[in-house]
Amino acid sequence: MPDYVLAIDQGTTSSRAMIFDHSGRVISTGQLEHDQIFPRAGWVEHNPDQIWNNVREAVGLALTRANVTYTDIAAVGITNQRETTVVWDRKTGKPVYNAIVWQDTRTQAIVEELGGDVGPDRYKSIVGLPLATYFSGPKVKWILDNVPGAREAAERGDLLFGNTDAWVLWNMTGGPDGGVHITDVTNASRTMLMDLDTLSWRQDIAADMGIPMSMLPQIRSSSEVYGPGRAGGLLPGVSIAGILGDQQAATFGQACFTPGTAKNTYGTGNFMLLNTGTEKVPSKNGLLTTVCYKIGDQEPRYALEGSIAVTGSLIQWLRDNLGIITDAPDVEWMARKVEDNGGAYFVPAFSGLFAPYWRPDARGALVGLTRYVNRNHIARAALESTAFQTREVLEAMKADSGVELTELKVDGGMVANELLMQFQADQLGVDVVRPQVAETTALGAAYAAGIAVGFWSGERDVTANWAEDRRWSPAMEADERDRLYRQWKKAVTKTFDWVD
Ligand code: ADP
Repeated sequence: MPDYVLAIDQGTTSSRAMIFDHSGRVISTGQLEHDQIFPRAGWVEHNPDQIWNNVREAVGLALTRANVTYTDIAAVGITNQRETTVVWDRKTGKPVYNAIVWQDTRTQAIVEELGGDVGPDRYKSIVGLPLATYFSGPKVKWILDNVPGAREAAERGDLLFGNTDAWVLWNMTGGPDGGVHITDVTNASRTMLMDLDTLSWRQDIAADMGIPMSMLPQIRSSSEVYGPGRAGGLLPGVSIAGILGDQQAATFGQACFTPGTAKNTYGTGNFMLLNTGTEKVPSKNGLLTTVCYKIGDQEPRYALEGSIAVTGSLIQWLRDNLGIITDAPDVEWMARKVEDNGGAYFVPAFSGLFAPYWRPDARGALVGLTRYVNRNHIARAALESTAFQTREVLEAMKADSGVELTELKVDGGMVANELLMQFQADQLGVDVVRPQVAETTALGAAYAAGIAVGFWSGERDVTANWAEDRRWSPAMEADERDRLYRQWKKAVTKTFDWVD
C-alpha cells in the first residue's frame, strides 16, 4: 500500500491539493486562487476551465513539494464548494456558461415561480431544502433558459450538469474520452433534485425545472472507487475514491460520527452541521435537512445544517471594497483597539439572508452609527456578526433536534482569529474547540477516499487521529451577552424588504 492519500479541495476562493499521511498529518499543499466574477449586483460566477487548470496545477505542486509521485498515492478524495453549477458539453468538454456560484441570487424569480401558491416549502419534505437561490436545480434552469442553444443541446443529450466535484472528476477520469459522470449523495442533496429517502433523482422535480434527466450525474456513495485517474494525467491509474461536499467533508474530518455531534466551519460563509445519524430530522426553524455522508454500502447518515452566506467574505469586502484592511488578519488588531462595537451592528445580508431567515429580499445594513463610531468599531462589528449569526443557527439546532451541545468543534480560515473565537464562546455559552489539523475539509475527503481503498479502517481511525489544539470558554456576563444579542436581532430586522 502506498504511503499517502491526496485530497483535492475545490473551494469557493481557491483550489487546493493536499497530501496526508496515515496519521492524518499534512505532508504538502498546492493552492491557487481563481477569479471571482461579479457581472452584476447579486451575480457571482467562476470560470470552470480556470478551476480545472488550477486543480491540475495544485496537484502538481503538492506532489513536487512532497517529493513523491503518483505511485506513492493510495487514493484521491475530492471535496468541493457545493451547489455551484457547471453545465458543459460532453463531446467538447467545454462549459456552455460560467459556473453559477452558490452565493448568486439571479434565480430569485425562478424560485418564486416554482414555489407558486405553495411557497418556498413546496419540495421540502422530499429534498429537505426550501426553494432558495442557493441550490443548484434553479441555476441549471437559468442556464438552459438563457444561454442560446443550451436547451436544445440538453434535450439532444449533449450537455452534462455537475457541481464542481463532478466537473473535476469527469476531467480527471478522461473528460470527453471516457470521463465518468458521477457525484456523491452529499452533493446531490444540495441540488433540490434528490429524494432524501431513496437517494435518487426525482424525475418530477427535474421536469418542473425543465431539466432533462440525461444531464444528471449518477449518484454514488461518498466513499467508493469511482474510477482511475486518466492515462497521461498527473495521477494515472490512481483510484479516485471519495467525494464529499465541503461542509460534509469537514464534518467527517472533525470525526463527528456520533449522532448529536456538530462542527462549525468559518470560511467564505459559515456552515454548522449536526449529525443526526440514520434519522432524517425535518426542520421547523430554518435549517436544512441534508445527507451527512454515506460510506460504501452502509446506511446514509443525515445532518441538520445551518448555512450562513456571508462571514469570511465580509472580511474580504472590508479589504477589497472599503480598503480599511490590507489582509484579512488585520481585522483582529483593529478590532482589539476598541473595547466593544461602540453600538454598531453590521448585518452582511449581501446574498439575502440564509439560515434561519431565508430572506432573499434582505440586503446588508450597518446600523447603530453615531459620530463616536470609527473604523475599528466597524471591524469589530464585522467580526461580531459572524458570532451572532452562528448563535442564531445554534439556537435553531437546539429547537429542531432537542440536542444541547456541550462544545462546538470549529475549523476554517477565520478560526485563526482569536478575538472572534473568544467572542463566539461568549455568545454561545459553550466551549469552542479547534483541532490541530485545521484543514478538516481536505482531511475529510482524504479519509473518505482512504477508507474506500483500505488505507484507513473506518471511522475509528479518524476518531483516533483527531486531536485538540485550543479551547475557548465563555467568559462574558450573561446580561451583557444577551443585551448584545438582542441588539443584533433588532439590527437584522432592518435588512428586510430591500428587494421588491
Ligand atoms: P473557503 O474554504 O470558503 O474558501 P477558508 O476556510 O480558506 O475559505 O477561509 C477564508 C476566509 O476566512 C476568507 O473569507 C477570509 O476573509 C477569512 N479570514 C482568513 N483569515 C482571517 C482572520 N485572521 N480573521 C478573520 N477572517 C479571516
